[in-house]
Amino acid sequence: MQKNSNIYILLIIIGIGVYLVSLLISAISFLIIPLGVTVLICVVLLLSYLIYSHFYFEGDKFLDIKESIKQFTKNCNELNSHINDLKNSFVDVSTYDYGTGELNDNSNYKFKRTEWKNNIKNYQTYNCSSTVLKSASNQPIKYLCKYFNIDTNENTFSNFENVLNNFAAAEQGKVLLKNERDIILNNISDSIPKLIMYFSKNKLVQKLGFEDFDFSDLYFPVYTFQYVSAGGNSSSKLDIKLNIENLERLVSYLNDLVKFRKSAEGQRALMTAVLREKIKTRDDFTCRKCRLSIKDERNLLLEIDHIIPISKGGITSEDNLQTLCWRCNRTKGAKIENI
Ligand SMILES: [Zn+2]
Repeated sequence: MQKNSNIYILLIIIGIGVYLVSLLISAISFLIIPLGVTVLICVVLLLSYLIYSHFYFEGDKFLDIKESIKQFTKNCNELNSHINDLKNSFVDVSTYDYGTGELNDNSNYKFKRTEWKNNIKNYQTYNCSSTVLKSASNQPIKYLCKYFNIDTNENTFSNFENVLNNFAAAEQGKVLLKNERDIILNNISDSIPKLIMYFSKNKLVQKLGFEDFDFSDLYFPVYTFQYVSAGGNSSSKLDIKLNIENLERLVSYLNDLVKFRKSAEGQRALMTAVLREKIKTRDDFTCRKCRLSIKDERNLLLEIDHIIPISKGGITSEDNLQTLCWRCNRTKGAKIENI
């Protein structure tokens, strides 16, 4: 009798178990089947779109559009490489390579000097006390010159002034280039399928033959003051980014300190945004060499050029400055390099 009831209980338990498992399976399948179908539909849609876009970009219709704007994309790519050259015009005039050494922590107690490990070793970082760091944050440009050995002489001044002029042109060029590219894309947007325009804009830009344009401002040099405590647990840092504003401050600071050989002439001006605009307005926003103006080309990049180059003793003064379009300035620059 006892044995029989045990079997009944066992059967009941097995019955409940089977019921629960079947319940679980039906619940999962209830969820999984619609989910699976959705995923499958998505995959099929995605694959068909990929195949469609692949054939579209290879097709004659697209290649015709590409061909029709070839000259414009070529211009944009040339301007882009010119902007990259301008960005690279920063040569560190202040510091030189002092060599490298290896820092080892030989303390008996294995302190975890975490911040020491994070310590960035490069010549654009200066390790200092917390007092210097605080003072530097109050007077960044002054401390930048002092601790990064930026000499206050005519040569350094001219170099930074030149960099400022180039960076300002690069920044303006970036805006004009983006405008120009958007205009080109806008003009052909009716001939491009909406699907491609919406889902593959980046690929479209690339397939049309545009190079990768870098519109970020990561190229501005950054100088860092860094304080790390003796124990290596705490640290703080001050980044001084030489963007247009800070370069203008630096140039103006150097201008106050440098004893110019030609200062007696009293002609020297500062390469500020105001001066650059003044020269462009004076020259009626027209290149003084090829006479092309922003009336002819809406997104024409105009630059300020020293008629007698600084390297040949020319100074920044209104009568030694002229407006040139980027193409003329580029050829002029190349000629000077060849001499
Ligand atoms: Zn020109």
